[in-house]
Amino acid sequence: MELRLFQEELEEKMLGQYAAKSVNTKGRQKDEEKCDLRTDFQRDRDRIIHCKSFRRMKHKTQVFISPEGDHYRTRLTHTLEVAQIARSIARALRLNEDLTEAIALGHDLGHTPFGHAGERKLDELCRDSGGFAHNEQSLRVVERLEKDGRGLNLTWEVRDGILNHRTSGSPATLEGKIVQLSDKIAYTNHDIDDAIRAGMLRPRDIPRDIVALIGTKSSSRINAMIRDTIQNSMDTNDIRMSPEMKGALGSLRSFMFRQVYASDVALEEHKKAEKIVGDLFDYYMEYPEEMSSEFQILLNEGDPVRQVVCDYIACMTDRFAVAKYNELFIPREWTKL
Ligand code: MG
Repeated sequence: MELRLFQEELEEKMLGQYAAKSVNTKGRQKDEEKCDLRTDFQRDRDRIIHCKSFRRMKHKTQVFISPEGDHYRTRLTHTLEVAQIARSIARALRLNEDLTEAIALGHDLGHTPFGHAGERKLDELCRDSGGFAHNEQSLRVVERLEKDGRGLNLTWEVRDGILNHRTSGSPATLEGKIVQLSDKIAYTNHDIDDAIRAGMLRPRDIPRDIVALIGTKSSSRINAMIRDTIQNSMDTNDIRMSPEMKGALGSLRSFMFRQVYASDVALEEHKKAEKIVGDLFDYYMEYPEEMSSEFQILLNEGDPVRQVVCDYIACMTDRFAVAKYNELFIPREWTKL
């Protein structure tokens, strides 16, 4: 018996009534022969892990731009934390863990260098051509940019979950909804941890009512949020938290916006990031032929120049963007100082 059929049978036996089963997928962008070992969602997860954009996330900012220490989150470790939280919830609810993991691992592939500062700047620069949003770019990465313009040819369910992972999105599967919530649980908690590490927050700054509900430690907060989500979503066709926990998560996010994301220290760094992104964008709009070969393929196939320049910048890691900036705009002798 083909091992994939065995896996599909296992899904049939183990998963609950609201799970997205791999045999019921709406399919891939282009039809292709199925794998004999893995279900379609397992295969999608593996394709994401092996793609170049996935590896680049290790040098992309989560919140803290080019942190000095080795213990700060990067876009890659954020992604792994989201996947861990999302899989725990999916497994407990008997939903499809493979689909959940694939969406989680792919959700931030389109993130720019320098976190949301880079994203805001690209959005401003692309306003006339529909703007820029990292979730839409993540979809473009898997549908078009990877594999020299051929994309990863993922299933509809994974692409839907990636596109709709932001608060404004509405994923079609419960697995997509789990990732949407797990993303918030992950970043709210690990950003507090990193802000304390950076000396921007003290543990006692966290509002008392939140501490009373979910504790002071990152592990206790994450644990409380996962448990609450599982208890309130069990045997329902939805993924939700209790009103108290939802309120606590919302208050923590507002607290982080005030204290960290929009603090004076962060804004100073954001200005520098915007300057780099803006100057690189203007340069490559003038000299698109200087972008690397995989982006020349897109231009040759007729993708608009502004779109491809945007793709090129969005794909850059923080350190590649800074290196390019130095190479293009700073006299060589000065970059050694
Ligand atoms: Mg994320």
